[in-house]
Amino acid sequence: MKQDAGENREKLLIGISSCLVGEKVRFDGGHKQNRYILDTLGGYFSFRPFCPEMAIGLGVPRETIRLVDRDGKVEAVGNKNPQRNFTSQLIDIAQQQAHWHRQVFGYIVKKDSPSCGMERVRLYRGDLPKRDGIGVYTRTLMENFPTLPVEEEGRLADPVLRESFVKRVFINKRWQDMVANGLDWAALTDFHARHKLILYSHDQDLGRKLGRELAAAHSQPVAEYAPVYLAQMVAILRIFAKRSNHVNVLEHIRGYLKQDLDKSDKQELTDSIENYRLGLLPLIVPITLLRHHFRRNPNAYIERSYYLQPHPDELMLLNSL
Ligand code: SF4
Repeated sequence: MKQDAGENREKLLIGISSCLVGEKVRFDGGHKQNRYILDTLGGYFSFRPFCPEMAIGLGVPRETIRLVDRDGKVEAVGNKNPQRNFTSQLIDIAQQQAHWHRQVFGYIVKKDSPSCGMERVRLYRGDLPKRDGIGVYTRTLMENFPTLPVEEEGRLADPVLRESFVKRVFINKRWQDMVANGLDWAALTDFHARHKLILYSHDQDLGRKLGRELAAAHSQPVAEYAPVYLAQMVAILRIFAKRSNHVNVLEHIRGYLKQDLDKSDKQELTDSIENYRLGLLPLIVPITLLRHHFRRNPNAYIERSYYLQPHPDELMLLNSL
């Protein structure tokens, strides 16, 4: 269950806005280096930096760009010279990167950028900006690869969003490995079995529905159904995993220990789940206790489930949930 914490671990390739790794590519010749991404996530991810504005030939320093809504069409234009329109160049440069976009397991973009921002970028209608734009490069990336985990560096400061992004990156890696190793119904069924408790922690009804659909889909070619499954799984993983859903999953897992624990161990586990439910303890506490009990009382299904070990402990992502 435990993932490799050694220095020789395989790092997962992640696309990233160049300015976030410290490259001086911003309009003013500066950067926006993010130490959490480099120092902490960098222990598990390797980064493929890309600056779309530099790639279309804009140097540093350069005129800033803004998003404008022209009759319902969103365009990226010069801030001072709105007749300079960079929209099609930014779309084209994103299209030209598709060959390596398909090789990354996730992508971290710079917030607020009219090229790189993922959401809530200032979009001008007349002189009035509304925060409902998407950077042109990133919009193209997300349209081309709708199941790719994409996140902004600003949102990674939020413990829930951070955990969700990293978890989706690791799941994406496992999905790609499964496909590369030869997709068949047995592999897909096993993949679902190992991830279903994670899905239940996001939405139990939708997770169960997906399991039923998977079981009923065997009459069609697996290669046809797999993309449908992937899209639905990603949609479930994007739902906010509520504390109450985690409590349901923890209690479900506790049920597998019913015959194995004495009264005081049972009470300790129940208290730990209850204290998590009340917000008095983080999720890592009942999870650590459950891992401890399953080490002593192994269970093949729980051992193979990723719920108790969705990502490496060293990232400490469950400590803040
Ligand atoms: S936000 Fe994107 S376009 Fe702007 S400097 Fe960073 S990488 Fe380049």
